[in-house]
Amino acid sequence: MNTEHDTGVRQILAHCTVCQVERCADCETVHLHVGHTSLRLTMAAFLSLCATLLEAAQTATQGAILPATPRRAAN
Ligand SMILES: [Zn+2]
Repeated sequence: MNTEHDTGVRQILAHCTVCQVERCADCETVHLHVGHTSLRLTMAAFLSLCATLLEAAQTATQGAILPATPRRAAN
């Protein structure tokens, strides 16, 4: 099923080998693509998710400096 989010203009905020993050220019919805899975989040929910993921990464590495991940700059 197509929706406005499938055809609307999206700005790529960032991407790497694991995921891509886009922002819908029409409604500000954040699209998070991980493999074949996509999530649509409000900006507030996306920022909360980012904070939680960062906290989890810091906990998992017990404060160690995270290794650099392969990443390309957003367009
Ligand atoms: Zn939209």
